[in-house]
Formats: sequence, C-alpha cells, structure tokens
Amino acid sequence: MNSNQLSKRLETVASFIKPAQTFADIGSDHAYLPCYAVKKGLAERAVAGEVVEGPFQSAKRQVASDGLSEQIDVRKGSGLAVLSPGEVECITIAGMGGPLIASILEEGREKLNGVQKLVLQPNIAAHAVRSWLNENGWAIETEAILEEDGQVYEVISAISKPGQKLSEQERYFGPFLMKEKNKAFLLKWKRELEQIEQVLGQLERAAESEGTVQRKHELNKRKDWIKEVTGYENT
Ligand code: SAM
Repeated sequence: MNSNQLSKRLETVASFIKPAQTFADIGSDHAYLPCYAVKKGLAERAVAGEVVEGPFQSAKRQVASDGLSEQIDVRKGSGLAVLSPGEVECITIAGMGGPLIASILEEGREKLNGVQKLVLQPNIAAHAVRSWLNENGWAIETEAILEEDGQVYEVISAISKPGQKLSEQERYFGPFLMKEKNKAFLLKWKRELEQIEQVLGQLERAAESEGTVQRKHELNKRKDWIKEVTGYENT
C-alpha cells in the first residue's frame, strides 16, 4: 500500500468521502488516505490528525514527499482536538476499535458542528459506532463490508440528520449490511457464530455464577440473532 494505491479497506473509506471539499483523517498514521484523496481530487484540502509521535512524523514525511504540504496539514493531537469548529465538512476515522471511535466522537462533539459526513471504519465492535451515531443525530446513509487478506472490515458512512432510529439488531449487524448479506458479511458472522459457540462450550464447563448465567444469556441471544439473520444453523 502507498498513497497512490490504497488497500481495498482504505479505498472503500475514500470512496465515501466525496463530495467533501475538506476532510480530516483522524488517526492518520502514514497519511496515505489524505494524500490519495487529494491526489484523486476527492478533496481539495485535508487535515491529518495523529496522536503518537512516530506515526505523526511518518505522516509528515509522506505529505512532504508527495509535495502536498500546501493542501494537507498534518497535526499532532488526540481525536478531534486538532480541528477548529467548522473547519472540515467530512471526518474519516479508520482502523480503530468501535468503542475508541465512539469515544473520539463523544469527546470532540463540539467540533462536529458544521461537519456533514462521518466515514468510520471500526475494526471491531462496529455496534458501538452505530449506537453513538444513532444517539447523537447522525443517520447511516450507506455501509460496506469487505474481505481483505483474510480480515473482514466494515465501513459506515453517516450524515448529520437526526431522526433515524436503529433497532438493536440493526446496530449489531448494520442496517444496510444485514439486508444485502454479501459474502464478506456471511463470512464475518459465520466466524462470530463459531466463536460464540466455543465460548458457550467453555462456559458450560465452568462453575455457574450470576456472571456466567448472564454471559450465557447474552451469547445465546447473539447466537439466535446471527442464525436468524444469516440462516446459519449450529456450526
Ligand atoms: N487510519 C489508518 C488506517 O486505517 O490504516 C491508521 C490506523 S492505525 C491502526 C490507528 C492510528 O490511530 C494509529 O496511528 C494511532 O496512533 C492513532 N490513534 C489512536 N488513537 C488516536 C486518537 N485519540 N487521536 C488520534 N490518533 C489516534
């Protein structure tokens, strides 16, 4: 991967940026995404935000070597703190866990005024992201799920629009993904079902406590949902 050729995962994130004129990529690491988006004309200007020194330096080097220092501002700081209110129309946050993405949005909520679009790619626990969006006036307008190098990735694109009400199942599976049920979706939930059954097997052998009973109940609920949505039977 480089700033001309993104991974399939980041290319999907980039495909949802349009038609933002300015966007911020938070947790930008090597800044491949903002460099690619500006080179392809998906954005006129971008901010690359990064909290850790090493990745921050590597983002700066990448932007300089692509000759994009006029269009891309690389800033060091946590989450949306690197932004001024109203500065960007779109924010991308990719390659982090769902709860971390949700906490970045929550902590930076005053910076979201004027932002029209969020493109979020949680590596795990995407339901945490969908719940945050749903409770904070953002509507999911489209989603993607794809497999790359054996990993399955979800990408969520949301617009600032209050009123969408997602069910518990829609938050868990994704309202668009659970309708489409593509190959990557079925693979993800087959793996998840296998993992749940493995944990349930371990819990069956463990000493019973209030905690194990509660956990089994929760896992059985998830298992039933997965079977209902995917049509899978026990693996
Ligand atoms: N976004 C890139 C991608 O998807 O390939 C990089 C993903 S990398 C796994 C996550 C990056 O987010 C790391 O460089 C990490 O330092 C950065 N990060 C984690 N928490 C952050 C925060 N609160 N604010 C800014 N960057 C953060």
